[in-house]
Amino acid sequence: MNTDTAAASNDDLVLVATADLVGHVRGRAFGASQLADRLAHGIGWVPADLALTAFGDLAASNPFGALGDLRLRPDPAASVHLRGAGNGPSVQLILADMLNLDLTPWSSCPRDLLRRALAALKNEFGLTMIATFEHEFTLLNADGSARPIGGAPFSAAALLSVEPFGSRLYAAIKGAGFEPDTWLAEFGPNQFEITLGPCDALAAADRALLLRELVRNLAKQFEWRASFSPLVSARGIGNGVHVHFSLRDEDGTPVLYDPSQSGAISAVGGSFAAGVLAHASAVCALTAPSVISYLRMRPHTWSAGNAFLGLRNREALLRICPTVGGDDVGRQFNLEFRAADATANPWLVTAALAITGLDGLRRNLAAPPVVDGDPDRWTQEERQVAGVAPLPSSLDESLAALTNDEMICGWLGNDLLATFLAVKEHELAGLRDASAETICEQYAGAY
Ligand code: GLU
Ligand code: MG
Repeated sequence: MNTDTAAASNDDLVLVATADLVGHVRGRAFGASQLADRLAHGIGWVPADLALTAFGDLAASNPFGALGDLRLRPDPAASVHLRGAGNGPSVQLILADMLNLDLTPWSSCPRDLLRRALAALKNEFGLTMIATFEHEFTLLNADGSARPIGGAPFSAAALLSVEPFGSRLYAAIKGAGFEPDTWLAEFGPNQFEITLGPCDALAAADRALLLRELVRNLAKQFEWRASFSPLVSARGIGNGVHVHFSLRDEDGTPVLYDPSQSGAISAVGGSFAAGVLAHASAVCALTAPSVISYLRMRPHTWSAGNAFLGLRNREALLRICPTVGGDDVGRQFNLEFRAADATANPWLVTAALAITGLDGLRRNLAAPPVVDGDPDRWTQEERQVAGVAPLPSSLDESLAALTNDEMICGWLGNDLLATFLAVKEHELAGLRDASAETICEQYAGAY
């Protein structure tokens, strides 16, 4: 097999994997002939694997230790075929749920957390969350050094300088059934962006994980390395992961759009957005969960400068995206969450949005002010009136906000929360005195 999307044949390897708290995809492989049995019973896994850190060691102070066993049960809906090197066979990667031995969901499975949050939205409000992830990444030489600059930002030269990488990626995404949207040369040197069409939020988070592996694997074929690290060099341009989302009712009708309201955001959309903003600092612990996340996420970098609902403003935590004329404006209308990066687990990112948005709906929160303009030019008092709040400026700050957020902690559960904090404290301790350049090097190596 020598295509990115070819079906597994004979006994080609099937890698069944979960994504952990640092967003790494980890699992175990077997021959394709075992797949039917594995779909039913899964493959063995270890609870303490959830405490693996971004750099390969284990956060020792986790609640599981050496005890316990789990099953990783593959979900065939979340799968991609990764082309082998040279003429080698492809490996099918299938994402999995983490289950107890009796095949019930494990309470600390991030994918199940998302599934539960989406089910609550559906059961309580009849709402389905639709989403898509925009990924930015940097193409480096295989040894991690910078490649020669292929052209100016957004230029044809930059895009063509990496051909046929873009064409191959686009075809592979299409072949995987992920509906590629746009491919572009971004602002930074050798920085690119790939976007997919929207779909059900669980599938969108799955696709985010699978897409990253597809990109990394394809880069390897070119003898390059793709890094999704939030920053690959201290003075570089950030790689963001922007999450676009909307809500539909039981009939599939979009419910975020109401042209009679400020920013054309409906009361339901306003409550959902208010919930996300009310928990913004704690949300960042899950969506921008690394030391390096806060080197990327600074004001004036078009990452997310402050917590507010902005009308077509790329400094906003939540951006009301543009729509173009036509009769499907409601279907186009979506919000973009800009404070995520690829050191986060997409299941947790999406769960954080669903849980906090749900909280806004449950509390029937009023729509936040829609900020139309540049709050950076305003006085502190004007910002306060418009509901513009600072975002955490460090991982310490966002973790403190998470620990104090009873609502989110309740959803995570004791073991998941304790493991998350153990992993992050370990990461912080290892980088406490590191320079920005060292931090960038470390994460570029890991992501
Ligand atoms: N690179 C920016 C980030 O770190 C985003 C730029 C854009 O708006 O696409 O999020
Ligand atoms: Mg971009």
